[in-house]
Amino acid sequence: MKTTSDFPNINERIPDGKRNGGAAFRVLVVDDSMFVTKQIGQILTSEGFNVVATASDGIEGVEKYKELYPDIDLVTMDITMPRMDGVSALEKIIEFDKDAKVVMISALGKQDLVKKSLLIGARNYIVKPLDRKKVLERVIDVLKG
Ligand SMILES: [Mg+2]
Repeated sequence: MKTTSDFPNINERIPDGKRNGGAAFRVLVVDDSMFVTKQIGQILTSEGFNVVATASDGIEGVEKYKELYPDIDLVTMDITMPRMDGVSALEKIIEFDKDAKVVMISALGKQDLVKKSLLIGARNYIVKPLDRKKVLERVIDVLKG
């Protein structure tokens, strides 16, 4: 019987969600939409990322970041959420960890808030509706770029 070792090429490519050593990048997804959270989770998991936690508003997002720190590589942060919006949550996370890698998830027409987020220290942003290729491209650029 043939095994994967008979087809070395299949195993050659390291998925983008993994470091060269093989450990998955650890991601926190903060979004009040269960649909978007699931979508981001599916996109990232399919490339080998490890979605270690999700949060449905800014307050919970900041709490989870602090709990996970330093074992957290990246946050996807929705902008519009109840209780605490993504821009405020970003501010709190950067206050706590100035090297935090946060990618904003924005609805169309929120350019001002995206600009503000980038000034505060967000590393990149993705505009909804989410496109698989774009999500991976931006996330990977922040982690490896
Ligand atoms: Mg939202």
